[in-house]
Amino acid sequence: MTSSVAAAGERPTTCCGRFAPSPTGWLHFGSLVAAVGSFLDARASGGRWLLRIEDIDPQRNVAGAADAILRALAGLAFEWDGEVLYQSRRVDAYRAALSQLRDSGDVYPCACSRREIAARAPAVGIDGGLVYPGTCRSGLPPGRCARSWRMVAPAQEISFGDRVHGTQRQDLAAVVGDFILLRADGQFAYQLAVVVDDAAQGIDSIVRGADLLDSTPRQIWLAQRLQLPIPAYAHLPLVSNAAGEKLSKQTRAQAIDPAAGSPLLAAALEFLGHVVPADVRHAPLPEFWRWAIANWSIMRVPARRSATIGHRLPP
Ligand code: GLU
Repeated sequence: MTSSVAAAGERPTTCCGRFAPSPTGWLHFGSLVAAVGSFLDARASGGRWLLRIEDIDPQRNVAGAADAILRALAGLAFEWDGEVLYQSRRVDAYRAALSQLRDSGDVYPCACSRREIAARAPAVGIDGGLVYPGTCRSGLPPGRCARSWRMVAPAQEISFGDRVHGTQRQDLAAVVGDFILLRADGQFAYQLAVVVDDAAQGIDSIVRGADLLDSTPRQIWLAQRLQLPIPAYAHLPLVSNAAGEKLSKQTRAQAIDPAAGSPLLAAALEFLGHVVPADVRHAPLPEFWRWAIANWSIMRVPARRSATIGHRLPP
């Protein structure tokens, strides 16, 4: 196996970052941590911070959630640059990327149903999913129609330097396999959309939750094959509840109340390893942000995949 060092890990001195929530529910403390980390990292570099609503999957979108997220961010005095980008309006760009990958021979149509894949008893992959056994890689079986389109995983190790977790390596073919870019229900997969959009928005530094650490090699591989620049990556620890479950809609994470103001932001920053002085914790929002931008250091963020909140959140 040849090794492919794809991303050096350093971010540009002045970078362009982003926050890209899926409107599958209201903003909770876990997503607030990603917003705070990405915002501070971009602003501390003197750079831009953009917003993208990842409403690519209509089945998972919750009516009103996108607006509620934007209102919550505005209520906490986050300031973003430019227009908010909505993935639901970007289907043409995803289609163009898929067609480019078709021209370069990187994707192929696949007829397999989930049940057929499971019946072949393939290996269990890194995220608990099944590693696709490659049935349709050399052509659709006679009489079968394409359900989805898959990206060929390279027989190469992808490695990158994460700014929080250090060097990461993944053998994509072994632990993920050929992965879906266009699903059987006609929806483009997150993996493709995120790569196309980050490049289109000029994002050169991604700061987000560690649940996406294992997706990063897929995204680096896609960016390479689409000849797009590869951003720097930093993955922040996920917030888990007392039962050790990641805060999410599924675990009934509470929506944050922007009226909680600076003490709530201070709790997010403390979760990211920073000590916030008492006067800053209770300062008006502009003052809190001034202090936080001046004092942010990604070096303080714990290199953990998840952590529980060390103390009670402000109400
Ligand atoms: N939309 C994803 C989420 O809400 C984040 C994607 C990303 O940051 O790349 O979990």
